[in-house]
Amino acid sequence: MDIRSTIRLNNGVEIPRLALGVFQVEDAKTADCVRWALEAGYRHIDTAAVYANERGVGKGMRDSGVPREDIFLTTKLWNDDMRKNRPLEAFEESLERLGTDYVDLYLIHWPVVGFEKSWPVMEKLYREGRARAIGVSNFHRRHMEELLKIAKVVPAVDQIELHPFLTQKPLVEYCRSLGVEVEGWRPLGGNDGQLRDDPAIARIAKKHGHTAAQVLIRWSLQSGIIALPKSARRERIVDNAKVFDFELSSEDMKAIDALNRDFRTGPDPDTFDF
Ligand code: NDP
Repeated sequence: MDIRSTIRLNNGVEIPRLALGVFQVEDAKTADCVRWALEAGYRHIDTAAVYANERGVGKGMRDSGVPREDIFLTTKLWNDDMRKNRPLEAFEESLERLGTDYVDLYLIHWPVVGFEKSWPVMEKLYREGRARAIGVSNFHRRHMEELLKIAKVVPAVDQIELHPFLTQKPLVEYCRSLGVEVEGWRPLGGNDGQLRDDPAIARIAKKHGHTAAQVLIRWSLQSGIIALPKSARRERIVDNAKVFDFELSSEDMKAIDALNRDFRTGPDPDTFDF
């Protein structure tokens, strides 16, 4: 495994296992972060319309000089755009802000009531090649079952909150049984340092001579999860990608798995209210 390592999605498209996430990065700062990441070797950027930084993502990609076709770009269809039944318009607005004529992955951001109406539009974007893959985010099993009743294209991924305090094993197994890859959001536990400061993580980090953040990212990757760590600081963006020169043992993996406490840092897809 290295920084360019990919997983083959259920439609044959290759997705890099490591991405830079840009949630909560202001638009003006985003171009620098994306460029730093691409310079450090990342080839996968995860944004969303609601992050309000797609322009910065587009600028960063162009500033980096890395050819568009070498970058895997994900954005997401926002809840209100589904509620207002304007998925096509929302997609075109995202493309315009990103300054590109296709995305590599387009996701339903949250399972809002009526999300099924947007999926056929996303399938059309997929058939037209304007989205090389389509998928969902924050879907529990029951949402996926609803979607599969009407889907002609099986989602390529489900992007869910996933880290050692919330390992979501039953949902991961269910997704895998369908051929749906899992992307883990908040792999570092987010702005709260509780997960990064966990004593078990600190012990394993010390043993390997790596940081807690690197251990957390490595745990995601070795669990077969596509990892989307966010940082807005250059040195951390660079360091977070230095996870390919060590390996967690099976004992390390078991000890980290054992930290699961079904603890969500973010909203529950069953009760979110936005
Ligand atoms: P992360 O788990 O990536 O944590 C980000 C936090 O960790 C920031 O406070 C960052 O601070 C800090 N950090 C980053 N690197 C280090 C380091 N090496 N050492 C110490 N602290 C560090 O949280 P996110 O919520 O950002 O999740 C990651 C990505 O997942 C998002 O950016 C987004 O792309 C995606 N996501 C998707 C969601 C969805 O609904 N589909 C919901 C939430 C996230 P700093 O920036 O100052 O370095």
